[in-house]
Amino acid sequence: MRTRNLAFAVCIDRPYNCGAFLGINFNKWTGYMRFKTLSIHAGQEPDATYGAVMTPIYQTSTFAFRGANDPPPFDYSRSGNPTRKALEDCIATLEGGKYGYVFGTGMAAETTFFAIYGAGDHIIVHDDLYGGTYRLLTKVIANKGVAIDFVNLRDLDALQRAIRPETKCIWLETPTNPLMNLLDLKAIADIAKPRGIVTACDNTFCSPYFQRPLEFGIDVVMHSTTKYLNGHSDVVGGALITNDDALGKQIYFLQNAMGTCAGPMDCFLVLRGIKTLALRMEEHNKNALEIARWLAAHPKVEVVLHPGLESHPQHALAKKQMKGYGGTFSFKVKGDRDEAFRLVSNTKLFTLAISLGGVESLIEHPWTMTHSSMPEDARASAGITQNLVRVSVGLEDVQDLIADFEQAFKQV
Ligand SMILES: *Cc1c(COP(=O)(O)O)cnc(C)c1O
Repeated sequence: MRTRNLAFAVCIDRPYNCGAFLGINFNKWTGYMRFKTLSIHAGQEPDATYGAVMTPIYQTSTFAFRGANDPPPFDYSRSGNPTRKALEDCIATLEGGKYGYVFGTGMAAETTFFAIYGAGDHIIVHDDLYGGTYRLLTKVIANKGVAIDFVNLRDLDALQRAIRPETKCIWLETPTNPLMNLLDLKAIADIAKPRGIVTACDNTFCSPYFQRPLEFGIDVVMHSTTKYLNGHSDVVGGALITNDDALGKQIYFLQNAMGTCAGPMDCFLVLRGIKTLALRMEEHNKNALEIARWLAAHPKVEVVLHPGLESHPQHALAKKQMKGYGGTFSFKVKGDRDEAFRLVSNTKLFTLAISLGGVESLIEHPWTMTHSSMPEDARASAGITQNLVRVSVGLEDVQDLIADFEQAFKQV
């Protein structure tokens, strides 16, 4: 009863259609509800027609006008769809943003964002990040005449030196995929803001449960909702969140103009996944940390790259800007490619597969899998070596996962 009343309060506070037409999301929830509550309720209210508690899948391309010149709240699903709007409001709320937009994939979100920039503009990008982002920037966005510099943003002096009068955007990822390096969100935002440079952060690895970049002054947050937000490895999707009115408007315009939006079925699945985000992240975090500690003590492991370990060079920064570390991390097997290959070929519970953030555990070899689209020298200079292995620790019993590593290492 209580929940219903709250939902009703939101319903009357939030004009039904304005998000779809103006790109405005009202987050009446932010500030007085906590994360677990918001992840279940934000953006959602019992359906107006039948009172369905779960947001219906509005699997329709178009909506009937009420009469001539009397449009319905949503008129065409590329421009806006009720299922998508519920997810957009929910994700925006969880990130502490005013505007949220969701896309067909994480890369569609990035493509839409980078469409803001054109010939003559300069973008600074962290030099250690998701391989697909690297490919999009070097093979697609660079062709439009956008100048792109890959810079190690852990070095703030290097960032200052890279900034030019035409620098419009700084794109970063923290923790980075797959090396688990961290970037200081506040320090980078503090350098960018006075110069009018937009900062954007790929927050896929942490999810808003463990890290909220907007709180540190970052302008735009990007997600591959394929990963932790959905969490069940059964959908691909992406999101962009911002508090900036002009950027919010621009992103909505581009989502509609470019047609990069997510479909209603996919939005429904991500919306359902988010309801358990907090519980999943707690458990991913616990399992991953326990396995990282076990691996760190293993004689066949050279180094474990996990920001939650005291041995991580940026552990203090991790504690400053993250509330937890998530379930994904990397480690280097003693030896080279052969040893790494023998390990990843012999795990039974950890499936050898790309992607991360699902309930099931995955293992992969970045050099030949997720990061094979990066040129060899770029991989090498970033520190992606052939003995590097990345795991996405799932929600299985951690003792079974450790036992799996124990038997697989015997084959190495
Ligand atoms: C997977 C991923 C992406 C790309 O998202 P898709 O949904 O696969 O298009 C971008 N950034 C990071 C960090 C990712 O892990």
